[in-house]
Amino acid sequence: MVLPLVSRWSARVLWASPGWRRTYTQRACVGLKRLGCPRGVYSPLAHRAYSVVAGGPEVTLTPERYPVQRLPFSTVSEEDLAAFECIIPGRVITDPEQLQTCNVDWLKTVRGCSKVLLRPQTSEEVSQILRHCYKRNLAVNPQGGNTGMVGGSVPVFDEVILSTALMNQVISFHDVSGCPGFAEVLQTFRTCRGMLGEILSAFEFMDTECMQLVGQHLQLTNPVQESPFYVLVETSGSSAGHDAEKLTNVLEQVLNSGLVTDGTMATDQRKVQMLWALRERITEALSRDGYVFKYDLSLPVERLYDLVIDLRTRLGPRAKHVVGYGHLGDGNLHLNVTAEAFSRELLGALEPYVYAWTAEQRGSVSAEHGLGFKKKDVLGYSKPPVAVTLMQQLKAMLDPEGILNPYKTLPAQA
Ligand SMILES: Cc1cc2nc3c(=O)[nH]c(=O)nc-3n(C[C@H](O)[C@H](O)[C@H](O)COP(=O)(O)OP(=O)(O)OC[C@H]3O[C@@H](n4cnc5c(N)ncnc54)[C@H](O)[C@@H]3O)c2cc1C
Repeated sequence: MVLPLVSRWSARVLWASPGWRRTYTQRACVGLKRLGCPRGVYSPLAHRAYSVVAGGPEVTLTPERYPVQRLPFSTVSEEDLAAFECIIPGRVITDPEQLQTCNVDWLKTVRGCSKVLLRPQTSEEVSQILRHCYKRNLAVNPQGGNTGMVGGSVPVFDEVILSTALMNQVISFHDVSGCPGFAEVLQTFRTCRGMLGEILSAFEFMDTECMQLVGQHLQLTNPVQESPFYVLVETSGSSAGHDAEKLTNVLEQVLNSGLVTDGTMATDQRKVQMLWALRERITEALSRDGYVFKYDLSLPVERLYDLVIDLRTRLGPRAKHVVGYGHLGDGNLHLNVTAEAFSRELLGALEPYVYAWTAEQRGSVSAEHGLGFKKKDVLGYSKPPVAVTLMQQLKAMLDPEGILNPYKTLPAQA
């Protein structure tokens, strides 16, 4: 096991989707190709132009891959567009090229066919838009950075996309809190927690396949000797010198005790970022490896990695890679399986197996990514029926017409 130690004074960057140049009023100049919507959801707007995404195969439309039926919402009309234009002049987007991007998720696994993207700047504008949608029975899909992992951020059919990209007044940030460990990694975590105390702000683990993938697809360099597991430790104390001294002591201790075989420490920002990239860019490396089946589970820490090993045997050569990484203290395992392409057979070998395995350990089917579109029907593996019913009742109370992000988060009511 190897231990890169990092001392980082937290910095977070907020970004918005780039280049929304053309607006509703300029839409007429687009050519006349139709967006591939399933039958039955065409509105007058469907005859507007849609071009195919440049580069890479087109993502399969969600209703063609998943068994989901469009609910009887209205479709967006010219009058609706005019009403939106009154509320947010110049920020009603119907340009097909721009819509392509926000109809597809970051992982390129689900695709909707919304005809309109709204870009409000204030809560008042959001409120007016929702009032109109409620009156007209138009379904709405809120969208932030569209980096979600469970298909929640893009429409399933033709929902209105309500983007918060322009609502970029940041109110506050919370630092990432400390994350404990796993087996030998767990022992290392205990040592870190004991010796670093409150300055320990992150403890992440990744397996050797993750390290290989960031090297292979992103050309990131592993700064330490090869090992079955790697952990990344971050401190966020108020004094850089004090943190560095404490980290050095920890590194000496874990190396001397044989818990780790190699380590590196960074205090300058460039190297800190380099080390964090190894962990934060795993998702990107996986998506370059092929189609990714993603699971974000919480499990008892002592069983956390067993599922990865178990799946490697179960899937054999059908999977390209089965990898595990995550935040140990939360018992959070990011389990990812890559394959050359989407395959129903592989999906069948993974599900419901992964969920049943998780339920047996009394774990959770979604640790931090949420349920979105893809996991809504497996909520029952982690929550008793009475809890699901209560959630449905609360949702119905706040959203009586069910227009807010339909098809997501909760199973349809019986
Ligand atoms: C490279 C990479 C690494 C990641 N690492 C992590 C990680 O370590 N931990 C983690 O938890 N996640 C991770 N994610 C997942 C994702 O970034 C987070 O879940 C993130 O919080 C999603 O934010 P977003 O603004 O992009 O939301 P979106 O993807 O746009 O939306 C997510 C969901 O929230 C809803 N939503 C968005 N805005 C609103 C709103 N204003 N009101 C109501 N609902 C709204 C959407 O409809 C959707 O259901 C990672 C993603 C990527 C691409």
